[in-house]
Amino acid sequence: MTSPTDVWEQLAAYANPVPADVAGAMHRMGIEVLREVSGEDSSEYLARCPAHLANTGKADRRPSFSVNSRTGLFNCFSCQYSGLFIDLVEDKLGYARVEAWQWIARHGVYRVRDEEDQREHHEPRERLTEAALALFEPPPPPALDSRGLTAEACAAYGVLWDPKKKRWILPIRNPMTGELWGWQEKGKRFFRNYPQGILKSRTLFGDIAWAGETALLLESPLDAVRAHSLGIEGAFAAFGAHVSEMQMRLIKARCTTLVLGLDNDAAGITSRDRLYARWRPRGLAMKFLNYRGIPAKDLGEMSDEAARSAYAGAHYPWRGRH
Ligand SMILES: [Zn+2]
Repeated sequence: MTSPTDVWEQLAAYANPVPADVAGAMHRMGIEVLREVSGEDSSEYLARCPAHLANTGKADRRPSFSVNSRTGLFNCFSCQYSGLFIDLVEDKLGYARVEAWQWIARHGVYRVRDEEDQREHHEPRERLTEAALALFEPPPPPALDSRGLTAEACAAYGVLWDPKKKRWILPIRNPMTGELWGWQEKGKRFFRNYPQGILKSRTLFGDIAWAGETALLLESPLDAVRAHSLGIEGAFAAFGAHVSEMQMRLIKARCTTLVLGLDNDAAGITSRDRLYARWRPRGLAMKFLNYRGIPAKDLGEMSDEAARSAYAGAHYPWRGRH
């Protein structure tokens, strides 16, 4: 169960206070704005990425890092360091969440933006309701068999099937309220998110009410359902190799140990190592899914036996490293 403290932590993690003068606040943190690119209703402040050295081993020369003047969202297009303005303050000044809040408040919070606020701004569109899923049905047995999934696991993860297009429907929901944001449509070697531009990096695919000892983080939603089908509890998916700060905060609030089960390819391994370097010092114990001797790129490609042993053999990075 999620305790009230966790709920407050998550709410705090979710809100996005932005200073009145974003460029000034960057300057006070020692991040110099080198260029400003003006957009329709906001500017992007370009600077050298403060996380580049830690993430890539090389300092950023370009500048690859930009912060939006209105939303405070930042992103490095090269090393993928990204998050809310408050994350930047936390990282750059070594503050805890509350201190970072206070620091921003001292520099004039002009808006506390929540997820809803941002979504509306980025995607002016109708709000989805559960009725949007009415055209879909529970996945049929042949589809379940082809992926080693159980009907029970699909029900637990709310997975549906589009009988017309023969595609999986993987709902994407608000991690606080469960409200439907959209879904991922997945066929053979194909997937698409609906609606386009859905903020999937601000949520996780999985049972948001779950909390327990050990969680498992995968890239693909169907792999999380597969894990559950094999009796592995607490499986979540990040919708890709890049795991956002928000996603890590959401998962950290739900477990004490995290098994990183990102894909066994260059992007997955790079992301895994970064997450370890970044989150181990923040008190999250992490193990790596054990791919040794298993010729598969992800959990979905493994036999039942291999998947169970990869999970059971999850290891701390200082041993059994490949
Ligand atoms: Zn960078």
